[in-house]
Amino acid sequence: MQTPIRIDSRFPYMGTTIFTVMSRMAAECGAVNLSQGFPDFQAEPALFDAMHRHMVAGRNQYPPMSGMPELRAAIVDKVAALYGTRFDVESEVTVTAGATQAIFTAIAAFVRLGDEVIVFEPVYDSYVPAIETVGGTAVFSQLRFPDYTPDWAQVARLITSKTRMIIVNSPHNPTGSLLTAVDLEKLAELVRGSNIVILSDEVYEHIIFDGEQHASLCGHVELAPRTIVVSSFGKTYHITGWKIGYVIGPADLMAEFRKVHQFNVFTVHTPSQLALAEYMQDHSRHLGLAAFYQEKRDFFRQLMADLPFRLLPCRGTYFQLASYAGLSDLSDRQFAEWMTREVGVAVIPVSVFYANGRDDQVVRFCFAKKEETLLAAAERLRKAFVKPA
Ligand code: PMP
Ligand code: GLN
Repeated sequence: MQTPIRIDSRFPYMGTTIFTVMSRMAAECGAVNLSQGFPDFQAEPALFDAMHRHMVAGRNQYPPMSGMPELRAAIVDKVAALYGTRFDVESEVTVTAGATQAIFTAIAAFVRLGDEVIVFEPVYDSYVPAIETVGGTAVFSQLRFPDYTPDWAQVARLITSKTRMIIVNSPHNPTGSLLTAVDLEKLAELVRGSNIVILSDEVYEHIIFDGEQHASLCGHVELAPRTIVVSSFGKTYHITGWKIGYVIGPADLMAEFRKVHQFNVFTVHTPSQLALAEYMQDHSRHLGLAAFYQEKRDFFRQLMADLPFRLLPCRGTYFQLASYAGLSDLSDRQFAEWMTREVGVAVIPVSVFYANGRDDQVVRFCFAKKEETLLAAAERLRKAFVKPA
């Protein structure tokens, strides 16, 4: 059907998110899908049993706008235990329909026409469209290739009287890099005395390797009072399709967040909140995640060891970056498409996370997969890239 309306597109140059594009192409080509980030294994039956029990018990109507009190209390307890700050259950935590909604709502709550928001490239793909939707301008700082560490001197130069917000993401998607305690000190120094709000995307907070500690902004005495921290149960409990997460932060900021949230989604699916509140009581479930994924990271890196990719460091998240420079002259987008169609392994090209399309010939593999899936991918890669002796 064709509309008789002449559409003056709000976003004439915006395409479809790379995660949808690559997952669709993987399905069409029968490729092993290591592109979009989601586990191909099941969550524990205890979580499903709890959800079912609450549905059957009639817990199916609207929860409070900010989320079920049981779940908010469980989140506050977890954050206090891990990062040492006890937030208020009533006024300082809100359950969201995943991190994407949380990020969009936070940006809509604080960023106005003409405001600038500093983001770090490569930048997760939902931030800039959200900033532009509300009339803000994204200002780009570069993480330094190839270890993707922030350049705080550059950030200092980018801060102006128009800077309303800085968005940080650690552990970082797509690079697997981390912000350290030293980085948080640098950030604190830069924003001291300003009215800059920090939005901290910590959806991979529990997926961090080699004994390193997650430097949550929740635990930083100077930054926490100006920060909205975002997390997602999708990553932590292997349920990305449930689309449920939360934000936590000081009451004043949360009040502004909720002004938008109430008319954006109002609230989130009741039975899954109750199930998660119960499931979260066993802290070993999130505390065990680092070891669980470290094993997968190491298994995948081992499988890749004799292939002609150069593996970049992976300190957190369930993504492994690999450079194919020296293997092909294709752009990373062409290479990712060729890999999907011809090799049968779908990956994400990293240039899509740069506004100017910067291409370091690096692709992202997701290793949140069963061993058999990773083995099948490695087998295909070996066939394509290793010549028989
Ligand atoms: N932020 C980052 C860095 C992510 O990787 C993702 C999803 N993988 C999200 C936000 C969105 O999370 P959700 O699926 O809970 O919306
Ligand atoms: N965040 C996931 C990734 O990086 C994908 C989420 C999505 O598909 N929107 O792959």
